[in-house]
Amino acid sequence: MAKVTLERLRKVYPNGFVGVDEASFEIRDGELLVLVGPSGCGKSTLLRMIAGLETISSGELRIGERRVNEVPPKDRDIAMVFQSYALYPHMTVAENLGFGLKLRGASKAEIEARVNEAAATLELESMLERKPAALSGGQRQRVALGRALVRQPQVFLLDEPLSNLDAKLRMGMRVEIARLHRQLGTTMVYVTHDQIEAMTLGQRIVVLKDGKIQQIDTPMALYRHPANLFVATFLGSPKMNLLWGEVIERDGLRLRIAEGVELPLQPDESLRESVRGYLGRQLTVGLRPEDMHLAEAAPERLAARVEVVEPVGNEAFLNLGCGGCDLVLRLPPYDLPTPGDTVHLGYAPERMHYFDPDTERSLRPAPAAG
Ligand code: ADP
Repeated sequence: MAKVTLERLRKVYPNGFVGVDEASFEIRDGELLVLVGPSGCGKSTLLRMIAGLETISSGELRIGERRVNEVPPKDRDIAMVFQSYALYPHMTVAENLGFGLKLRGASKAEIEARVNEAAATLELESMLERKPAALSGGQRQRVALGRALVRQPQVFLLDEPLSNLDAKLRMGMRVEIARLHRQLGTTMVYVTHDQIEAMTLGQRIVVLKDGKIQQIDTPMALYRHPANLFVATFLGSPKMNLLWGEVIERDGLRLRIAEGVELPLQPDESLRESVRGYLGRQLTVGLRPEDMHLAEAAPERLAARVEVVEPVGNEAFLNLGCGGCDLVLRLPPYDLPTPGDTVHLGYAPERMHYFDPDTERSLRPAPAAG
């Protein structure tokens, strides 16, 4: 097991494109760290630099205490699992699992022992003599994981390993990977574009955009205290609601969203002065769908028009229009209003997020990364 340290790691492709810009962080010994961001944000580039499949333009990469910038992939003591399982179709599961060890000249007895151990961990024992064609997608992905497992590496690197599976299987495999990580205690770096996968699997998450790290923290800390608008709207489904307006003062601070549409702001002590600094200027505020609710009509309450009601069984999403902004509320699926109704909105003021519209940064000072 080992920690992995990235210091100002940078990748400039031969055409001058900066794929990853000054990435600095540490993957702790035994940690499951997720790299997440939209397609093209540099996740795979970063992972491939750790693997040694992509050269490092500048910065330093260490596995344990050893600088590995120039160390070839096979000597880095890592194992990688890709999206495409690329199993050898003519080999059995056992042969697929043991092939890497065979190439390295391991003895027959050692190969058999490690293959059996990996098969037991991944519940593949009954399938060892089958060929990949006789396996389901999930089973093939387990074999791909097993191939990495038999190597007993210091660090596992997983690049979108579940994206070829259907939604139900993905959920099952997600749980298996989390279980595997707990069982092995090996350092793992997991790349995905899927924010749900990131939130459910990651002990910590690195959010990337355009090759730059946006924020690193535990899933719930990112969800509760996003450092900027990108992180705020990337994590969470449905997305965080955003309202734009001018900050005014009349019976306290308010956001004037449109003519006659005002939202009372009740920033807590730590934020009051920063919010007040926006008096007479534009401010962006965010409220997650679960942090708003329907309330009795009252003069200070925001009124909104119901546009679409989406009951999904255990809950319902209410799509609303309010002073030119679109809002979504997450509600229990009972006594729902109907499209065309006017409703009044209550919200949890302590859950409100404030962002500078120009820098897109949160006004809340970022807590030290956990
Ligand atoms: P992700 O894994 O987040 O989808 P990648 O790390 O694959 O993104 O790519 C990051 C960016 O680098 C993308 O914009 C991609 O087009 C670009 N890129 C990847 N490989 C090359 C290359 N060989 N030459 C130039 N640009 C590249």
